[in-house]
Amino acid sequence: MSDDLTTPQSQGEAELAFEGALRPKSLGEFVGQSKVRGQLQLLLTAARMQDRTADHILLAGPPGLGKTTLAMIVAAESERPLRMSSGPAIQHAGDLAAVLSSLVPGEVLFIDEIHRMARSAEEMLYLAMEDFRIDIMVGKGAGATSIPLDLAPFTLVGATTRSGLLPNPLRDRFGFTAHLEFYSDGELEQVLDRAAVLLELDIDRESLAEIAGRSRGTPRIANRLLRRVRDYALVHTGRADLGAVRAALELYDVDALGLDRLDRAVMQTILTRFDGGPVGLSTLAVSVGEEAETIESVVEPFLVRIGLISRTPRGRVATPDAWRHFGMAPSSAPGT
Ligand code: ADP
Repeated sequence: MSDDLTTPQSQGEAELAFEGALRPKSLGEFVGQSKVRGQLQLLLTAARMQDRTADHILLAGPPGLGKTTLAMIVAAESERPLRMSSGPAIQHAGDLAAVLSSLVPGEVLFIDEIHRMARSAEEMLYLAMEDFRIDIMVGKGAGATSIPLDLAPFTLVGATTRSGLLPNPLRDRFGFTAHLEFYSDGELEQVLDRAAVLLELDIDRESLAEIAGRSRGTPRIANRLLRRVRDYALVHTGRADLGAVRAALELYDVDALGLDRLDRAVMQTILTRFDGGPVGLSTLAVSVGEEAETIESVVEPFLVRIGLISRTPRGRVATPDAWRHFGMAPSSAPGT
């Protein structure tokens, strides 16, 4: 389906393999997020100098901005093994106990979507993060006892699209929280330039800039669009030039701002059903049939960033640029 091209979430095995090939392997190769890179560098260097595990790290931000990549880099730069898990896979405290008790000393444990972990596991994690210890409950009812178990020291790297959803005791146990921001067009050009070299694709700067501008501030989408342009050049034009970029992106329905299906649905709802707003978050979510959490953490930050909506105390409001982009005028028929 064409709209999937601009969805920031990863899609299936083929994409995972492709992403793996393009993933930066060190902080030096990681494009953009300069503040976060500097902070991580310091944290990892200090840990290495003292020969201890690095502090626990929370990576917060919308999908596709590099959280998994950074977790892998943390492990690589600290020369420690990496264990990968995710919140949805940890539905019971026992699931977490199994992972924690099998960690080797110094291992980096990555938990993606950590806000979706079971409550009982969260509580176990507090103690594990603080004291490298867990209490395992044995038996039920009056005869239940807890057996303390020492763990190997580890560094937890948690990733979340919603740091606001994490309970305070969990958030407080991370020594460092990095908030990843959408990338500028210039940074996305660098991401694309690097990917083009790895893919051995000959493409000019103008074409890279065109793709960058339609990538929704997201490296994952930039790389995905580049792949489609490569296909187009292979099949039709023989060269990845501006003509091929424009034709490929038109074929896949990627508009000038790179909005995805959900972005467009949200904008259409605010503009046409609510005449530009204000609209409350929950009303908006129901209208487009999506969870309020996704609207708030994935869709809204980008639409605010590119100036299509603004947040007001009474709800979300479309800006004049939004009316223009969708070729409408307030309270009038489309195209006027
Ligand atoms: P997240 O975990 O935040 O959803 P990922 O770390 O899986 O995002 O990144 C998605 C893809 O985008 C990866 O394949 C990686 O190649 C690319 N990517 C992300 N951030 C960067 C970056 N700063 N520099 C270069 N490529 C990046």
